[in-house]
Amino acid sequence: MDLNTIEAMVPTADPREFRTGDAWLAGGTVLFSEGSPNLTRLLDLTSAGWTPVTVRTDGIEFASTCTIAELYAVPEDPAVPPQWRAIDLIRPACDSFVASFKIWNLSTMGGNIATSLPAGPVISLCAALDGSLEIHAPDGSTRREMVADFVVGDAANTLRPGELIRSIFVPDHALRARTAFRRLSLTNLGRTGAMVIGRLDQDGLLVLTVSGSTTRPMQLRFGPGDHPTPYRLLARLDDAIAPADYHDDIHGRRPWRQAMTRRLGVEVLGELLSSPGPGSER
Ligand SMILES: Cc1cc2nc3c(=O)[nH]c(=O)nc-3n(C[C@H](O)[C@H](O)[C@H](O)COP(=O)(O)OP(=O)(O)OC[C@H]3O[C@@H](n4cnc5c(N)ncnc54)[C@H](O)[C@@H]3O)c2cc1C
Repeated sequence: MDLNTIEAMVPTADPREFRTGDAWLAGGTVLFSEGSPNLTRLLDLTSAGWTPVTVRTDGIEFASTCTIAELYAVPEDPAVPPQWRAIDLIRPACDSFVASFKIWNLSTMGGNIATSLPAGPVISLCAALDGSLEIHAPDGSTRREMVADFVVGDAANTLRPGELIRSIFVPDHALRARTAFRRLSLTNLGRTGAMVIGRLDQDGLLVLTVSGSTTRPMQLRFGPGDHPTPYRLLARLDDAIAPADYHDDIHGRRPWRQAMTRRLGVEVLGELLSSPGPGSER
């Protein structure tokens, strides 16, 4: 789609240059498909030249401009230590995109998170792994926020005007965890209708992240001595996620999404608690 109100394309990643009528431009797959009559300038983040993926001893830092193709390549990065078993989540998460060549190669992790759709696979992946965002504001300040808290509803998040997601950090403790992944869609290559990701940390903490079926990521955490039975898990899911928290659209009606979330939750729990425990080899 032509954005015919645009007067300038500015190569900058400096929030102090942001003014009313501007939008950050990353992969452009939302901006150029949905359009907006109110935009006058695009601030081009791809000009920043940020390193897409930095493997550190305490975790992985992704530039917000890291593309889905670059994220998909991370499991092959020789710098990734073998004990980071949760790296195995990256590929099924990327495969959850209803992805054309353009989405795969141009759309970015930051753009997916900022768009904040219920079916945002980068949101699911990063929320499940305790990922946090570094956010830069137009007044020069910086804040950090958990991805799970950042998305507050369907296409809604805590970004204020002009704020920029600079990077996403995923910590070592979550990367060492054993994980289980389940996803369902109403059709073969359809948009995600329900996704449940389970994580069993080395200290025994169990974290279940529900997304896709809900308007925002929802998490349940169980301490090492407090792992639930399937019945208790279902009760906790029903307590934590009200019927209105389930998303309702053409990709899945609310009762179906709720039923599938309960089913996938029990499957994930069974997989994590029945097979080799924390500390086992990858
Ligand atoms: C065919 C097709 C299939 C799709 N399938 C899916 C899907 O399965 N799941 C899904 O979630 N989405 C899907 N999308 C929507 C979209 O393409 C993705 O969410 C994509 O990841 C957006 O990334 P982008 O870099 O292209 O964002 P852009 O279009 O560049 O930006 C999107 C929005 O985010 C803002 N933004 C971008 N980067 C930043 C940043 N670093 N800081 C602050 N704000 C920023 C922009 O200003 C804009 O408002 C699909 C789109 C198409 C066209």
